[in-house]
Amino acid sequence: MSKIYAITNQKGGVGKTTTCVNLAASLVATKKRVLLVDLDPQGNATMGSGIDKNSLKESVYDVLLGEAALLDVIQRSESGGYDVLPANGDLTAAEVQLLDMDRKEQRLKLALKDVADKWDYVLIDCPPSLNMLTVNALTAARGVIIPMQCEYYALEGLSALVETINQITAVLNPGLVIEGILRTMHDPRNSLTVDVSAQLTEYFGDKLYRTCIPRNVRLAEAPSFGQPALSYDAQSKGAIAYLALAGEMLRRNEASLKATEHSAV
Ligand code: ADP
Ligand code: MG
Repeated sequence: MSKIYAITNQKGGVGKTTTCVNLAASLVATKKRVLLVDLDPQGNATMGSGIDKNSLKESVYDVLLGEAALLDVIQRSESGGYDVLPANGDLTAAEVQLLDMDRKEQRLKLALKDVADKWDYVLIDCPPSLNMLTVNALTAARGVIIPMQCEYYALEGLSALVETINQITAVLNPGLVIEGILRTMHDPRNSLTVDVSAQLTEYFGDKLYRTCIPRNVRLAEAPSFGQPALSYDAQSKGAIAYLALAGEMLRRNEASLKATEHSAV
């Protein structure tokens, strides 16, 4: 069964898109089949995967509105080796149009329902707000990955996000869990980083990934070449950190699978 993760944080600029693109490429490097769903009208994940958002015939917008089938809209990221359900500015209209639709929170879930098993992992890149698009991501997902920048206001807004996740769990998607909290743009020399890390450990315990993503200029450069860091500069600290994250995720999944099998015996 494919694992569907929403990569979300209503703050902009915390590394959601960078995480989505680079985690997708890293999972491909471990021979997993991956679909990246771009759910941000900015289309940064689409562009960062080497797909031109300005020349899309159809996009995730048409899929959400039920006007195109998901499999007809996906494109291959040649640089990343994964499939992409691309987005562009058209998606801005969907935020409003969805409000009048039947099962408005479940449009993405329904679109993925019969086809998600084509992939081992589906990663959804969310917009920087808790709007209907993010609600669609959280309703379709099994787990939430929250990238956080360990800076002064990092924890502000986190309670609103956790509250939204709890509401979705109560009403629309009882199986949804917080999969992991990821520290991005990490700088261990900064004492504030250390303080925020300590608070995150206290609040989230072992949900906090041990892997930290360092601040690394290659991660910032790669998108303008339409590539994940792994194809732009495989030796870079950023590319290596995202490989480590993929490894940590896979180990966690194997461990929880074993625990489930064990309890079933
Ligand atoms: P979000 O999707 O949450 O808005 P992005 O992934 O687009 O955030 O990241 C915001 C900016 O920071 C982008 O310009 C990106 O290239 C840069 N960035 C993200 N992660 C890192 C990192 N670890 N090191 C350096 N720059 C980064
Ligand atoms: Mg983004």
